[in-house]
Amino acid sequence: MSLVRYQNFIHGTYLANTTNEVFDVRNPATDEVIYQVEVADERIQQAAIESAKKGVAQWSAMTGVERSRVLLKAVALLRERNDELARIEVLDTGKPWQEASVVDVVTGADSIEFFAGLAATIEGNQQDLGGDFYYTRREPLGICAGIGAWNYPLQIACWKSAPALACGNVMIFKPSEETPLGALKLAEIFIEAGVPAGVFNVVQGAAEVGQWLTQHPDIEKVSFTGEVGTGKKVMAAAAASNLKDVTMELGGKSPLIIFDDSDVEEAVSGAMLANFYTQGEVCTNGTRVFVQRGIYASFMDQLKARTEANIVLGDPMDPETNMGALISKKHQELVLGYIQSGKQQGATLVTGGDAVSPTSAPNGYFVAPTIFTDCNDEMTIVKEEIFGPVMSVLVFDDEEEVIRRANDTHLGLAAGVFTQDIRRAHRVIHQINAGICWINAYGASPAEMPVGGYKQSGIGRENGIETLKHYTQIKAVYVGMNKLESPF
Ligand code: NAD
Repeated sequence: MSLVRYQNFIHGTYLANTTNEVFDVRNPATDEVIYQVEVADERIQQAAIESAKKGVAQWSAMTGVERSRVLLKAVALLRERNDELARIEVLDTGKPWQEASVVDVVTGADSIEFFAGLAATIEGNQQDLGGDFYYTRREPLGICAGIGAWNYPLQIACWKSAPALACGNVMIFKPSEETPLGALKLAEIFIEAGVPAGVFNVVQGAAEVGQWLTQHPDIEKVSFTGEVGTGKKVMAAAAASNLKDVTMELGGKSPLIIFDDSDVEEAVSGAMLANFYTQGEVCTNGTRVFVQRGIYASFMDQLKARTEANIVLGDPMDPETNMGALISKKHQELVLGYIQSGKQQGATLVTGGDAVSPTSAPNGYFVAPTIFTDCNDEMTIVKEEIFGPVMSVLVFDDEEEVIRRANDTHLGLAAGVFTQDIRRAHRVIHQINAGICWINAYGASPAEMPVGGYKQSGIGRENGIETLKHYTQIKAVYVGMNKLESPF
């Protein structure tokens, strides 16, 4: 049986490449190739830029209310097709249906709805200067590029396009080559909603296509989600080409701090969410779990028992499955390598530690939920982002110590604190160098809340009103009302 083959989505329609080059996409839960995608060759790249130029002329001339109206239609379509889109995300990523059906499409649609609501509020200001005056216009940047990671493919495409489009920009989006389908479906939905052709084009491929976007002189901004190392290359290329603006959503190694006055059951729930949700492939994961000595024994007892009893690995489409397969064989090997290093460097394996072959999905790239204790701050598993279901538990004694250790990293994406002491909760969070923080919660990321990293975890923000600034530029206009004085 021949495989379905997807083309690039340019100017409102699918466009064939000329080189015939394709890449395979595998279902991580079965190891089967499920479809092929055409690589964006020169023909596609040129067409994408030409189309975006036409798109930006039309879209940026529309009013905020007009843009809002069509974006809200796209929101309705996303919600109508929730299950169809969630299924695509499950097959592409290996994550459980349990999650994708209630989170991935929902949070994507929420973000577009939020920014559609703001589209008509984008405004400048004016100030009197004693007769003369100036005013400002908040103008779109023009053609923006979006480059996505594979863990939340549709959500990332929505989170990037929503503010870009609301502000009157257009976007050429490149999804991860591991998960290319969700963005194509979003492009179809935008067209059906009435978004003009050329406003959201999708180009497909791996690093080379990403590099082309970051180097292109007609692209004014690149919004990137991915690894720190790739982010540095993207930023260098953005600077070297035409000094593009950048938004960087990069990796993390976030601390989750559990004080001994915490509700143990809730703290365990928080730690499990912060490490095992989406099989650990979440950038904000709280993988360094600092537990105060007084609560350590009871915390560990419950954590081990619940991890062993309540996590169900298997066919991700089975509604009972709550942990899916990792994105690829290569990533599974990488995660298993980190587990090996934890053992070699003297951490104690409490549970998990191996690849798993569930009967319902024997060929998938599964890794058992893994917990290490007796960790120290120098171990590789404590220092590096693993992006898999591997939790490192570290014991601490006092507040000053845990703040110092929590901040001892070059990353600063997220952090969490569990405690019943309201003053301590805020005092500690205010001293942690991280952009996304939770108190007695973990992982929730509503469209209203800005997200982004401190230190090497990122630049700029996604979601929240804040993000409008990252997709507009200020034009200041001075108006002379008096006779112009000149020394010449
Ligand atoms: P990656 O850096 O390998 O790839 C990300 C994207 O960049 C892909 O589309 C890839 O094709 C493209 N790319 C690769 N090389 C490029 C280059 N030289 N120029 C331009 N584009 C290039 O990351 P990944 O493995 O897809 O995703 C996992 C990483 O993403 C983790 O580090 C995770 O923490 C991070 N992440 C961060 C956030 C956040 O919001 N902060 C969200 C999700 C994932």
